[in-house]
Parts: sequence; C-alpha cells; structure tokens
Amino acid sequence: MTPDGSGDPAPHSAYGTGAARDGDEGPPRAAPPGRTGGPQAEEPHAPSEGIPHGASEGPLLTESVRLGDGGYEHVRTRTVWNGLTPARFPELIVRPASEHEIPEVLAYAREKGLRVSVRSGGHNWTGAPLRDGALLLDLCRLTRCDVDPDSSTATVGPAVTGGMLAAELARHRLSFPTGHCPDVALGGYLLGGGLGWNGRELGPACRYVEEIQAVTADGRTLTCSESEHADLFWASRGAGPGLFAVVTRFRLRLLPQPGSIMTASLTFPLTEAERAGAWALRTARESPPNVEFSLVVKASGPPAGATGATGPRLRLEASVFAETRKAAAAALAPVDACPFAGHALELRPVEPTSFRSLYEGTGERWPSEHRYVVDTLWSTDSYETQLARATRLIAHAPSQHSLALVPFEPVTPDPDGTRHGDMAFSALGRSYAAVFAVWDEPEADDANIRWLREGMDVLDPYGTGSHYVGEADLTAGRSRSRRSYAPADWERLRRLRRRWDPAGLFHGYLTP
Ligand SMILES: Cc1cc2nc3c(=O)[nH]c(=O)nc-3n(C[C@H](O)[C@H](O)[C@H](O)COP(=O)(O)OP(=O)(O)OC[C@H]3O[C@@H](n4cnc5c(N)ncnc54)[C@H](O)[C@@H]3O)c2cc1C
Repeated sequence: MTPDGSGDPAPHSAYGTGAARDGDEGPPRAAPPGRTGGPQAEEPHAPSEGIPHGASEGPLLTESVRLGDGGYEHVRTRTVWNGLTPARFPELIVRPASEHEIPEVLAYAREKGLRVSVRSGGHNWTGAPLRDGALLLDLCRLTRCDVDPDSSTATVGPAVTGGMLAAELARHRLSFPTGHCPDVALGGYLLGGGLGWNGRELGPACRYVEEIQAVTADGRTLTCSESEHADLFWASRGAGPGLFAVVTRFRLRLLPQPGSIMTASLTFPLTEAERAGAWALRTARESPPNVEFSLVVKASGPPAGATGATGPRLRLEASVFAETRKAAAAALAPVDACPFAGHALELRPVEPTSFRSLYEGTGERWPSEHRYVVDTLWSTDSYETQLARATRLIAHAPSQHSLALVPFEPVTPDPDGTRHGDMAFSALGRSYAAVFAVWDEPEADDANIRWLREGMDVLDPYGTGSHYVGEADLTAGRSRSRRSYAPADWERLRRLRRRWDPAGLFHGYLTP
C-alpha cells in the first residue's frame, strides 16, 4: 500500500485523460480461498444494455464484456452517467444477475490477478468505477426493493434509485431521505453518506441504514450492523467510493410520509445577490429545521418574466416537510413575505407539492448528456462568505450551464461528530457549497475544468476546507479523499481496509 499522499498541490490537468490511481494503490496478490454465505434471494433481471450472457471467457453465470470485444466501448461509456467519460479502461465488465454470483466473480478476479471496482448506478461524478485494467463489477441488475410497512423497513438492492424507492414508499405512505435527483442509485448515495431531502432535519441518509449485506474480498457474504461486524458497518456509512467490500443489500428504516410538502422559489439577477442572499440566509437561520433552503447561483437561465434577462442569477428554493398543511404554510410564510420580491425575475409562490413533483423538477435540471465536473467544500467560513465567493466565481464561468449550490445546512449540524451516530460520515464544516462545471463541447473540457479547479481555490483561499466524498472531485488533488474525513476516521478507514482487504483486491479512492 502506498501512503495517501495527502497535501500535494492539485494539478490542473485535463480530467479523464490521465491514468488515475488509487489512494491505496497496491498490486493484487493471491487472496485466501473464497467461502460463500447462506442462501440469498434471487434478484429480478433488469434490462441489460448490450452485454451478452457469458460472451467472454470469465465467470459463467454472468453477463460480461472484455476490453477488445465488439460493443465494449458502448458498454463502458454507459457505465458512467456523466457525458464526460474518463479515459480509463477496465479489462472486464461483469454484470451479475444476482448477488449469489458475486463470490464467484471475486474468486475469478483473484485467480486472474485483476483488481475489482464496483458500480451501482454510475452517478459518481468522477466515474469512479472506471479503472484501468480492472474487473468492473456492475451491480445494475440488483434492483430488488422489498418494503415491509408493518416494521417500517425496506430491503433494497444497490441499484434501486431514489426515485424508484420514493414511488414505492408513496404507496405505503412512508418516506426515506432519498437524494435530490430521481435517478441516483442508493448504492453509492448511501455509502457516501447521502445528503437527501429534508436532511437539515433528518441528518445524512445513511443514518437510516440499519443493516447491510456485503461480500468481502475473501468471498464471504456477511450481514453487518451495529452489533455484527460493526467496523465494516461503520465504514459502509460514509466510506463512499473507497469502500473495501461489495454491498449487495441495505436494510433501511423508513419514516412516515410528511403530511404536507410545500415549496416556493424566487430568482434574482446577480446584481441583487448580496441583498437577497443575506435576507435568505437570515430567513433560513430563523426557520425550523424541517425547512430546506438552497441558494443556487447560476451562470445563466432562460429568459425570465417581462425582463427577458438571461444573465447570471441567484435562485432561492425553499421546501418544507411538515405534518399538516397549516404548519407547512406557516413555516414558509417568511419566504412568501420576501421584502425584495418586486426585484425578482421569477417568483413561484408557496404551493403544495410531492416527492414526485420535486423529482420531476430536479430530474429535468440534470440532463445526462452534459459534461460535468463537480467539487464540494465544507468550510470554516460563514454561509455569507461562501455565497459571495460563489457569486464572484459564477460571474466568470466559461459555460452558461455552470452553477454553484449553497444548501443551508444540508444535514443537521453535528459539532461534536456524534449526533448522527457512529459512522464514517461527518459534516465537516460551518458552511457547505458545491460547484458544478457543466458544458457540452469536448473542446471546452480544459477551460471548464480549469475554471472549476481554480474556483475551488477561490472558495477555499486558505486551503483549510474539507469535502463531501459523495460529490468531491477526487481527481483534483491527492488529499481530496483524506480531507473528506475527520483525521481519526480517515486513519480508521485505512486500518479497516488493511484488515478487510489485505491483498488490495478492491480499488480504493481515485486520485489524480
Ligand atoms: C445528477 C446527480 C444528482 C446527485 N444528487 C445527490 C444528492 O442529492 N445527494 C447526495 O448525497 N449525492 C448526490 N449525488 C452524488 C451521488 O450520491 C454519488 O455520486 C453516488 O456515488 C452515486 O451512486 P452510484 O451508485 O450511482 O455510484 P457509482 O458511480 O455506481 O459508484 C461510485 C463508487 O461507489 C462505490 N460503490 C458503489 N456501489 C457500491 C456497492 N454496492 N458496494 C461497494 N461499493 C460501491 C464504488 O467505489 C464506486 O466506484 C448526485 C449525483 C448525480 C450525478
């Protein structure tokens, strides 16, 4: 194992054209013989895009495609949701039809000396599952979703998306803090921590994971919880794209569906950003935790209202998750009474909504055909400072699609790192921001990536910030993954990796 190399300056190299490495790089060596666990439920077969059953030499029960096979490139690019596909080429892409096949796939990888990368839904912004020479274990067919209304629990496969789960739960008047976009798979989302709907009140989504089933590097299938294999369970709640096991199931604790969800939004020209932003942040602080506030600084937007203006803008979105309609309306009343409403380019008054409608809005806002590079920052500075920096940054974005998101307390503040429970995830700053470089033309890759990376230095001028591993640009610097954790948690993750995956079968965190 190499050290994590923390502290190196972030190179401003083109994304995806260099050979990315692991934070815990090490050559694959022979691992102990595999043992499989007890019987498991069959997963239904999801449509498989272009991988023939048993087309390549490899594990027999699965669909697989090998580097050099016809159709390989089609399959490889489809494993990444982002229109920007990293230039990293797995040796073999394998899609098991069921969790039963995973120990056999891992045994095959050990035998052939292939390191393993794992994919659930391919929404990691850096395309983390794509690794040169790897066996890419694509879990896209594990889409089983069993809801038990009596115990208010659900058992889900890693490729179940937030939208699929929310739709299923709506039938039972239950809910879960799924992520903000419907197509994000629960696998990577929950492993990273999960900043979901109503997170300011509920905390990170992984707080509601009661148990996982995981296949370890030596091929064992284990049930992990706070009382069984507690250290692997601890890691699964936050290790994100550096976990050292394959999670095949999550058991989730469900919540009652809010009696009323309401939402409102106001969009201002960037010239109003300081005044409107200060008001919005003051309003957010005074609002109860079940009100979720997001400030979105956009490089441009469609012509709005009578002004026809298309320039940079600040959008305030507020949503409340309450027991009654009356309580929801009261919580959003200060937003309705915005003293600058007359300056807004666009105003959507407080109105009832549903998870489904919220998802329709966010789903449209993130089309997969764009090219994206994304980074995050937990900062010791105030939200006001973050917003001012984000506003300056967006004013110079090379692409009109780019944006900065400043969600007010995306999860419950957790000053001593204990409130959310014993987990690898923690909220590491006083304020949070995420910046999204979004563009279309391949020839604009360098300009947009440079803008984002230099912009993160503007947001974090003293280099003291931390990151959210679930959305951080791990290829921006060798310290990104380390700085996504409290120091003791990072050391514990490294120790656990050595214990659970001593031969380095699984790829670790991506680095430049
Ligand atoms: C449009 C969009 C919206 C998003 N919105 C949110 C949001 O609201 N809140 C939020 O917190 N995040 C959000 N994200 C980030 C998202 O949660 C992460 O990118 C997450 O990794 C996506 O999950 P995935 O299963 O698709 O990841 P993948 O790309 O499939 O996997 C990423 C990495 O996670 C690990 N991994 C994935 N599945 C497993 C598994 N079953 N076992 C072991 N390791 C595994 C692997 O290391 C893999 O390389 C969003 C991303 C996108 C693209």
